[in-house]
Amino acid sequence: MSKSWRPATQLVHGGTTRSQHGETAEAIFLTQGFVYDTSAAAEARFKGETDGFIYARYGSPTNDMFEKRMCLLEGAEDARATASGMAAVTAAILCQLKAGDHIVAARALFGSCRWVVETLAPKYGIECTLIDGRDLANWEKAIQKNTKVFFLESPTNPTLEVIDIAGVAKLANQIGAKVVVDNVFATPLFQKPLELGAHVVVYSATKHIDGQGRCLGGVVLSDKAWIDENLHDYFRHTGPAMSPFNAWTLLKGIETLPLRVKQQTENASRIADFLADSNKVAQVIYPGRKDHPQADIIAKQMTGGSTLVCFELKGGKEAAFALQDALEVIKISNNLGDAKSLITHPATTTHKNLTDEARAELGISAGTVRLSAGIEDSEDLIEDFSRALAKINA
Ligand SMILES: *Cc1c(COP(=O)(O)O)cnc(C)c1O
Repeated sequence: MSKSWRPATQLVHGGTTRSQHGETAEAIFLTQGFVYDTSAAAEARFKGETDGFIYARYGSPTNDMFEKRMCLLEGAEDARATASGMAAVTAAILCQLKAGDHIVAARALFGSCRWVVETLAPKYGIECTLIDGRDLANWEKAIQKNTKVFFLESPTNPTLEVIDIAGVAKLANQIGAKVVVDNVFATPLFQKPLELGAHVVVYSATKHIDGQGRCLGGVVLSDKAWIDENLHDYFRHTGPAMSPFNAWTLLKGIETLPLRVKQQTENASRIADFLADSNKVAQVIYPGRKDHPQADIIAKQMTGGSTLVCFELKGGKEAAFALQDALEVIKISNNLGDAKSLITHPATTTHKNLTDEARAELGISAGTVRLSAGIEDSEDLIEDFSRALAKINA
């Protein structure tokens, strides 16, 4: 294995270990436990004197391949694969905090992430301040003596706001706090939070890493010291481990990640331009367009647009529903990152639990629609939009 391989090569070969059979494809090790040749071998394994697995809740061979491949892609020293993206987020945040600590989080978060910091953490005496993360001054103002974690997502769901990760990391380092970045929307290909100064990166592998809508998964990546000190024991004893079957599915998904994300991004970019020209669309937000409100930060920290497009229809909810219902190729679903193009109306689905005020703060109106571009032929997607837009009243 070579660390100098470029991403596309690492994603096919990185982290692979082979059994005595020399199988081409990665093997699935569906086993709970492992046997030892002797009592002394078991003792040595438990003492950490020899390498090897102990119990699948702690780690197992297929999961290990997935973790190693993700480390190569992310430039991280170590990782833990979790059963879902939310298991990754919850573990990454709670494993390093205790009662009396304080989190500063950007308020534009995936709904369940927001629940973890806003509702769950306070039950255990961990305070949280939610801010508009676009302005670095807000991060600085929210700092308290007990601030230990900065948490953010960039670009955000669904309005694709971006946050200056290097700027937030600089502030965190001044007070010894850790920056946790949920990098799902950027994908590991287009944004490298660790290189930008963040300390911990989390993914929902359910999205682009699987990319074919099959299984849930997540991963937490960081340096070895942080994982050893914070996540290692938490992970072993609270049990968020990924199923080896899902680790295998995700390993196969990850092989084609660059091909899929490239096609999805090209499709998203074309659709964004097409929608921007429609007189039924009030606004298009796409990180790959020059008119994105934060194009300067995107140029600094991202190397690609996004597979997602957010746009606002002039006709509000009625127009949004009519558009979604008229689409034939593009399916209505709250999921994202899939090979299939998916469209969702955040105000009535993913963000329905927020108050009207909170939705307005995030820029979500009744006419806001989020598209996750798939890998279909872009001509078919444009034709689908063209047909559907013609049917709605402006
Ligand atoms: C989907 C998602 C999650 C949660 O991941 P699951 O795999 O569904 O648990 C967290 N953050 C972001 C940004 C997501 O899109």
